[in-house]
Formats: sequence, structure tokens, C-alpha cells
Amino acid sequence: MPLRKKGRYRYGDGPEDIRTEVERYSKSNAYPATRFAASACACGHHVFSLESDEEAGAARRICTACGHVHLMGDSADYADEAEFGAHSCVCGEEAFELLSGVALYADSNDVRWLYIGCRCTQCSLVGVFADWKSESGDADAFLAAV
Ligand SMILES: [Zn+2]
Ligand SMILES: [Zn+2]
Repeated sequence: MPLRKKGRYRYGDGPEDIRTEVERYSKSNAYPATRFAASACACGHHVFSLESDEEAGAARRICTACGHVHLMGDSADYADEAEFGAHSCVCGEEAFELLSGVALYADSNDVRWLYIGCRCTQCSLVGVFADWKSESGDADAFLAAV
């Protein structure tokens, strides 16, 4: 399904649509995301509230089913200095499906830039809610921890 556009917002139906939006956004940021991973809680649920500090380079997701708090990617390394702010959708909802994308350095598997894509569970808005330059190394290890 193609993304639906209303004004400056885009709406979609699932992880594929989040990926499409992360690809679009990241291209306009000059570091295109080429690898992606969706977030899932250890309890099996995949809807979260999201808090981040782009300055510090840290994000955490809180499972809306079991309340488990997970520091995403390499965020544990930066969480001490982070001042986490909660994200909410333009519709007011704070529960999202998450799909992260990373841009890599040329001819390597090392992360260069992180994009956190979200889809609102209430109104289906998709967007990149946070992104920053990341030097966390191996993309496989990083994406396994989003
Ligand atoms: Zn959970
Ligand atoms: Zn919404």
C-alpha cells in the first residue's frame, strides 16, 4: 500500500510503510538508511511509547503491554547524560509501532546514522520521530538491540 499524504503528514498501514518513510526521510538527510529492524518486546508485544534525547543520542521504548523499559541500540552508553522527552503524535496518541533504519559507512557494516521510524496506533501517521549521527559500530549488533 502506498503512503497516504494529508497536508505535510503521511499515513500508512504497517512496518513496510514505516520503512518507506524512513527511506524517504533519510535520503533527504544525505545518509540513506539501507538496513532496518522493527522493535519487539521480549513479551511479544510491539507497541511502545518512545522517549529520546537526540542531543545525547539515546532513546528508550516502553512496552504498552508489560511496561518493560528498553534502551534502544547503543543508548545504554549515553543514557546517563540523557534527558529523555516523550514523543506524542499530532493526534495526541503516545503508542507507536517502531522501525529503526541505519545508514552505513561506505564499504562497511558500521552504523553512521540512526533513524527511528514510528507508526501511530491511533491515526496511522508514520514519521521519523528521532535521528542522530551514531558511531556504534556493527549494524547487526545495533539492529538486534532496537
Ligand atoms: Zn512487553
Ligand atoms: Zn496519531
